[in-house]
Amino acid sequence: MPMRAMVLSQPSTALQLQSVPIPQPGAAQVQVRVLACGVCRTDLHVVDGELTQPKLPLIPGHQIVGTITALGAGVERWKMGQVVGIPWLSGSCGGCRYCRGGHENLCDDARYTGYQIDGGFAEYTVAHQDYCFAIPAGYSAEQAAPLLCAGLIGYRAYRMALETLPPADGVLGLYGFGAAAHLLIQVARHDGHRVFALTRAGDIDAQQFALQLGAEWAGDATQVLPDQLDAAIIFAPAGELVPTALRALRKGGRVVCAGIHMSDIPQFSYDLLWGERSICSVANLTRRDGEEFLPLAASIPIHTHITTYALEQANRALDDLRAGRFTGAAVVIP
Ligand SMILES: [Zn+2]
Ligand SMILES: [Zn+2]
Repeated sequence: MPMRAMVLSQPSTALQLQSVPIPQPGAAQVQVRVLACGVCRTDLHVVDGELTQPKLPLIPGHQIVGTITALGAGVERWKMGQVVGIPWLSGSCGGCRYCRGGHENLCDDARYTGYQIDGGFAEYTVAHQDYCFAIPAGYSAEQAAPLLCAGLIGYRAYRMALETLPPADGVLGLYGFGAAAHLLIQVARHDGHRVFALTRAGDIDAQQFALQLGAEWAGDATQVLPDQLDAAIIFAPAGELVPTALRALRKGGRVVCAGIHMSDIPQFSYDLLWGERSICSVANLTRRDGEEFLPLAASIPIHTHITTYALEQANRALDDLRAGRFTGAAVVIP
């Protein structure tokens, strides 16, 4: 039986709508009929060739919500018909120092959905039973999809920022106000923090959107901020924002770089780092992040703002993301 899928044959080319065999679940895998798949900036980096190790040909997409339609041998965790989420991390070795220490996100042998194995820009996909999440009640498939990467990576970055934020009333700067930031601001506001949103110059839509979601101030990175930041999270893939954010940070504060790819960071004076300021990155996610974040999202509750695209419009979704043509998150509906 064939299915429709959007396939990347070569980096820096458009995805092509193809008819390919429906993947069958191997041992410990579930087969899922894809109900929705979020579009992430990482998908752009894969399609544009900035992430250089994709399997080819590849079906991208790693924020998948779907219904289980077949169980491979030995699957006990899930039942037919259950709705599950499939994130970026699709496997890890389980035995290395990172996996044993709770850092499977850093495993050298980790595998990633929509990068080394086929993802969710298709009618069906398969995933290992241990790398799927339950989707909390109250979320439709398309509303839940952006939680699986934008939400999870934002949450992981936020946890790192919390180390230099006071318990409440901290000042958090979000550089880049897209899918991840629009979810994370809801967590930060729920925790009682003040949020400044920094967008591309002139992106009034994103600034208005940030203010609607509770940002105290919104502008662009060239402007003088109303207060010093206790922590900053950079979602935009622009290395020049690192010294900019350091400059806005108070002593002891931290800049968290949350993207998988960033342009080169320009040289900067040690003065910007002095005063025990720090810079760190966030890599991938652990299953524990998902098990913590998804129930938290439902309890706040976090609202996802989405723009939907049909499967065959996946290239348009990627182009619109590149150009910043929507606020919130894009979701492909097969
Ligand atoms: Zn490992
Ligand atoms: Zn992602």
